[in-house]
Amino acid sequence: MQIARVALDVPLHRFFDYFVPEGEEMSVAEIGLRVRVPFGRQSKIGIVVELPESSDFPEAQLKTIEAVLRDLPALPADWFRLSEFCAAYYQAPLGEVMLSTLPAGLRRIDPPKARVAKRGAKPGKPQTPPELTSEQQASLAVIAEGGSGFKAHLLHGVTGSGKTEVYLRLVERTLAAGKQVLLLVPEINLTPQLEGRVAARFPEANLVSLHSELTEAARTRNWRAALEGTARVVLGTRLSIFTPLPDLGLIVVDEEHDASFKQQDGMRYSARDVAVFRARERGVPIVLGSATPSLESWANATDTRTPARYTLLTLTERAVTNARLPVVQRIDTRLEKLQDGLSGVLLMAIEKRLARGEQSLVFLNRRGYAPVLTCTACGWISHCTRCAANLVLHLADRRLRCHHCGFEIRVPKTCPTCGNQDILPFGRGTQRIEEVLAARFPQARILRVDRDSAKSRKQWEVLVKQIHAGEADILVGTQMLAKGHDFPKLTLVGALGADAALFASDWRAPERLFAQLMQVAGRAGRAELPGEVLIQTQFPDHPLYAALVRHDYPAFANEQLKEREQAGFPPYAYQAMLRAEAPQMADSLAYLATARAWPQVAAHVDVMLYDPVPMRLARRANLERAQLLVESPSRRALQIFLSEWRELLESIKAPSRLRWHLEVDPLEF
Ligand code: ADP
Ligand code: ZN
Ligand code: ZN
Repeated sequence: MQIARVALDVPLHRFFDYFVPEGEEMSVAEIGLRVRVPFGRQSKIGIVVELPESSDFPEAQLKTIEAVLRDLPALPADWFRLSEFCAAYYQAPLGEVMLSTLPAGLRRIDPPKARVAKRGAKPGKPQTPPELTSEQQASLAVIAEGGSGFKAHLLHGVTGSGKTEVYLRLVERTLAAGKQVLLLVPEINLTPQLEGRVAARFPEANLVSLHSELTEAARTRNWRAALEGTARVVLGTRLSIFTPLPDLGLIVVDEEHDASFKQQDGMRYSARDVAVFRARERGVPIVLGSATPSLESWANATDTRTPARYTLLTLTERAVTNARLPVVQRIDTRLEKLQDGLSGVLLMAIEKRLARGEQSLVFLNRRGYAPVLTCTACGWISHCTRCAANLVLHLADRRLRCHHCGFEIRVPKTCPTCGNQDILPFGRGTQRIEEVLAARFPQARILRVDRDSAKSRKQWEVLVKQIHAGEADILVGTQMLAKGHDFPKLTLVGALGADAALFASDWRAPERLFAQLMQVAGRAGRAELPGEVLIQTQFPDHPLYAALVRHDYPAFANEQLKEREQAGFPPYAYQAMLRAEAPQMADSLAYLATARAWPQVAAHVDVMLYDPVPMRLARRANLERAQLLVESPSRRALQIFLSEWRELLESIKAPSRLRWHLEVDPLEF
């Protein structure tokens, strides 16, 4: 009987052999079909990866495939290579990688009945493309010169400079060449405009979107349209980088610096990095776009010591005639007493906008009412019992909430330890600023926009509509508001609490702060109304703010890269993080210590292992967490080490409740 080798979603670094049922014999072209197989006492969906002559197992032990699923075309060879690359690079079991990137509906034994297909995106009004600016033309010309083969381009353009228009022209060319386009965006919620714009410009391209808010059936249908080639443009979030695309001709990663391209559990991959690999492997161009590129990409495009790996394309001016970049100013908060966290200058600026019927945005990256509740008598503070973290006060629904594990309780009326009635919020979140502004400007319509007020896409869309319709005078929001939206009446942005990131122990914090402030500043003053940005700070002379005032991302980035190089941080070193968590910290640390003590470590001279340490948030959801950093100046040396080390990690005896994982290129510490 014919034997099929099958990849299954199990945490093992191996495949499984089965007999192909009689009368169902498979051809080589059918490698990549799904099959249903018996596994243990249940059935599982797997993917056929090979039709070997014989099995390494005694044939008597082999079971027979229950069904060969011929409802879909076979997964293409380049999709296999992509999965193999990810499994090897991220040290994840190949079967798990392959199956976990399929839509859930295709890996279930009992998929839900698909309803009649509804079209993916509804095309908006057809639009006539604008005349390109000379900078847009120049960028497009360079990309065209690069040809249809692999070439990585970094499109660095200030907000409103027309990056999207550049993408659209590239899509147009790619479609005309008979190829498919993959457009990656960080969060679909925040970029519905892009979906509409692409669909309107290319109604015949049958744009489909792929993201986590689709129903299982819709996701399956869209994915299938991509695989079958009927969808010519796929717009999706990080997981969509794994969509099989037989005619792929171009990949675009918009807002390439965004942290949501990083998957934070399971296989911890960076969709941006995988995208670059995929483009190279498929031999197609890739364009990474951002107003504030990641320092990794910036280094790849600007490092003059090695031949640049990416070409740098720059858009320095806003595309719409006369639209100028906002004026950014620092407000030195050491010089005056703040009123509930707000400076007199900012309050006056808001008042001016109210009088002119324009919108203001107060930006604060901290949701809730206050980060903690305290007792003035005994010093009690609201602590999460399951994490090494404080419970955040949410006055809107009178709850204390842990932002790490989701634990929540009602706000107590008196101090739980001493009974004192005088328990007070400490610090400020968006709800409190909303309250302060409401008291100060009773006539103003205030709208709060954060993860609490915009939990779903629906709520978010309602809020955006209200803002657009001018139904709000003052917006109070987190970085949610910073992304991808034009609010024509918004002319003032005030940023609060930014300083915290300047001296954070996470050395990536300044990079994130700069990106956020740039983005939020980009919301102010589009079209005819000039914008103003006021940053409250105790460190007005800090070089980060100085660069921001000049809209000078390159100066900021080059300065940061210099510091990183001196400190030996990425992108000048490659890192991996081993983390362990268990009910007892001693167990977590012991596991890491055993991993650290592996004698073979000495043979890897280019690889350095740090000491195991408790994580910054050492306890989460009753688990004690520790980490061990691995570093190397060579990506290859690190990879070789990790693939050997992983086998050791899997063999270490540990308490049954201990969990560990390995993360390559970690973003957070
Ligand atoms: P970005 O993606 O860089 O933030 P967009 O592509 O969204 O910028 O462009 C910002 C605004 O400028 C949009 O309203 C867009 O329609 C407009 N725009 C883009 N390119 C041009 C152009 N060449 N001429 C006129 N308007 C343009
Ligand atoms: Zn007390
Ligand atoms: Zn908690």
